[in-house]
Amino acid sequence: MQINCYSCHNHFTMRREEVHAALDEMVSEGLSHYNAVCPRCGKANKVSMKQLKRWAPRWESSTAKEAKGKTKQEKAEEQDSVKGKEK
Ligand SMILES: [Zn+2]
Repeated sequence: MQINCYSCHNHFTMRREEVHAALDEMVSEGLSHYNAVCPRCGKANKVSMKQLKRWAPRWESSTAKEAKGKTKQEKAEEQDSVKGKEK
């Protein structure tokens, strides 16, 4: 995604992987904005989660993925294996 620095008006690009990493970080830390640092002047440009999601429509938070990926049975098996270790 293209970011226009509010301070020096430099255009710089955030790669998709960076956008995904930013979104993951925001979710895990409960942030509402990501600070995209301008490579030219070093100022942090605030980017809202809404904007980032627009650029990464396929992004899903890793915690949501984990919850969806596990079936009830898998969770039960996991608990069993934990109990087994205790014995
Ligand atoms: Zn700048």
